[in-house]
Amino acid sequence: MRSSRRTFLAQATSALALGGIGSGCTRKDTTMTATPEVSFRSVSQVLPGMATSDGAGVKLTRVIGQPRLRNLDPFLMLDRFHSDDPDAYIAGFPDHPHRGFETVTVMLDGRMRHKDSRGNHGLIHGGGIQWMTAGRGIVHSEMPEQESGLMSGFQLWVNLPKDQKMAEPFYQDLQPEKIAVADLDGKGKARVVSGDLFGQKGPVRARPSEPLLAHVALQPGHTVEVPLPTGHTSFVFVNEGDISIAEKKIARAELAILNKGERVKLTAGEKGAQLLFAAGKPFGEPIVQYGPFVMNTQEEIERAFYDYKRGTLGHD
Ligand code: FE
Repeated sequence: MRSSRRTFLAQATSALALGGIGSGCTRKDTTMTATPEVSFRSVSQVLPGMATSDGAGVKLTRVIGQPRLRNLDPFLMLDRFHSDDPDAYIAGFPDHPHRGFETVTVMLDGRMRHKDSRGNHGLIHGGGIQWMTAGRGIVHSEMPEQESGLMSGFQLWVNLPKDQKMAEPFYQDLQPEKIAVADLDGKGKARVVSGDLFGQKGPVRARPSEPLLAHVALQPGHTVEVPLPTGHTSFVFVNEGDISIAEKKIARAELAILNKGERVKLTAGEKGAQLLFAAGKPFGEPIVQYGPFVMNTQEEIERAFYDYKRGTLGHD
């Protein structure tokens, strides 16, 4: 989505994978007991997003991919867009390229039409998801279709490992009814996009980062416990209300990065909470990013530019 032609040519970002954010919870010594204790995840860092604009002038909040958090292996970016002012979103994201990773658009409200250089097109509705594997390359546009009303959602960028960066591009356009819905003890609801969460299986196909992704709403004071792979990187972004994780409070519009561990407990504050929950397997590979191209080496970035300039990226 981002990748404004204005900015991506001007900004080179080389960053090494953070691999191993935080100190991690370790399993306790189990020699004295038959049943090992469960390690609950704590919070390693809380940070707010940064207001910015991208595309042709869309106002958004960049949460991952900002100066304080360049990436969070395997996640490369998280943008939050939320406005009922058409001037903040109507210009959209005209044609721009991607190579080497996946983009995930989570629409909560509004409609976004996409069209690409390979002849694919579709409309993402509020409650719907698009999981796009850019792989070796696409050139696409993402344009709000509506001229008024609320436009709200997220775009998350998920990395691909070295051997899949040049994979065949692929889309999953998932209408709202395709998203798995979990009832959380009658005191909340989770819409599961990817992976096994809250007793439901998300509709996204198996991905190399083994991602878990859900949009969760919790009633005031309600607690949910989420098991997840111990080594996965995990974060929670609080969209509305507030939550606490292992005694740490996370306010609206804040991101919490979690330490490693087997489970996490999320407790909604007194106004309830609505949040994006994500986890993914870190690749531990070098991340060389230049706007909408995310590869492992500088040479591969140069190759992406070369292919884009001569018009083969997104057309081969
Ligand atoms: Fe895009």
